[in-house]
Amino acid sequence: MVKLKSALYNMSPDDFIREAVKSYQGEIPSLDSCVSSGEFCDGEIEVIDLPHVVAFKIGNQETDIVITDVPAYRCKKCGDIQRDVELIATIEEVLDEEVKERLGEQESLPRSISLYDLIQAN
Ligand SMILES: [Zn+2]
Repeated sequence: MVKLKSALYNMSPDDFIREAVKSYQGEIPSLDSCVSSGEFCDGEIEVIDLPHVVAFKIGNQETDIVITDVPAYRCKKCGDIQRDVELIATIEEVLDEEVKERLGEQESLPRSISLYDLIQAN
């Protein structure tokens, strides 16, 4: 289905998935209003892209990998930022597999990787 639909829009399946995931992102927010620090703020929530840093210990060396394009929720009123905890947990899980795979194949690790590239890599 992806193959056919991407052909319809004259895109490669990879580009199509990337675009589809990107445009779907706008429909993810499910937070209605801000409940920052237990106080009633009621600010409007917007979705922003916020990099997420994951620290890896490989041998004796610590390496940080920055995941870019990770959606987060920001309150327009108080500026409080909330992460999708489940999404972050899944990203870290997937990244862990990706790192193991790359190390196994003696490939170098990226300093940073887009969430969309990570989706495509798996
Ligand atoms: Zn707020």
